[in-house]
Amino acid sequence: MASDNASFKRDVAEARRLGIMGGTFDPIHYGHLVTAEVARVKFHLDVVVFVPSGVPPHKHGVEISPGRDRYMMTVLATATNPHFEVSRIEMDRPGPSYTVDTISEFRTRCRPGTQLFFITGADAAVEILTWKDAQELLRMCAFIVATRPGYCTTRLEAELERARAVSTHGIFVVEVPALAISSTDIRARVRQGDPIRYLLPESVENYIRKAGLYL
Ligand code: ATP
Ligand code: MG
Repeated sequence: MASDNASFKRDVAEARRLGIMGGTFDPIHYGHLVTAEVARVKFHLDVVVFVPSGVPPHKHGVEISPGRDRYMMTVLATATNPHFEVSRIEMDRPGPSYTVDTISEFRTRCRPGTQLFFITGADAAVEILTWKDAQELLRMCAFIVATRPGYCTTRLEAELERARAVSTHGIFVVEVPALAISSTDIRARVRQGDPIRYLLPESVENYIRKAGLYL
């Protein structure tokens, strides 16, 4: 499996409780960063690794920025938090990105006994049983599900109950301060010339402007 060893940093390899946050990150914004930080503190995670996707299986038909740009923005956004890291694991793997493959790879690279926590938003988690090899995945790591503003929690709870019947490491729900921020909205704002300041780190905004993304 092609992957970048240099990106698998020592603090990641040595973590006992490791958070993994997958996403397209096109671009990364404060919704992602707040979610990761809330999960880190609440679940005593040593590190949270952000994993920008390669070809996202659920986003066919939507035009996605080059992996290089999404990776750079994720590095810029996480640079000031000593507990945040970025992994190229999915970007360096050919073909679509499946969480089950990513978790397997982390599992083999981390020390034995490391607890893995996959962090995801409620909108993605509600589909969890449809993910590739869902049964196997639910037995490989715990899940931290961030509830997102405007999300129907009745359906979510029903789905999570079904998933819990399979899960061996637990599925936990955390309330994240109401952040109705989405990458889709940020891309639309850039296209329309509306401000994006305070929705994402200034360094990421500067990168977007310099690279001419979302125009
Ligand atoms: P897009 O609008 O392009 O779908 P997005 O803002 O949803 O982008 P993704 O990269 O798709 O961002 O999301 C990565 C992960 O972060 C997903 O698990 C998603 O549910 C979660 N997430 C995204 N935005 C928020 C937010 N504001 N609060 C909490 N979780 C979020
Ligand atoms: Mg999304």
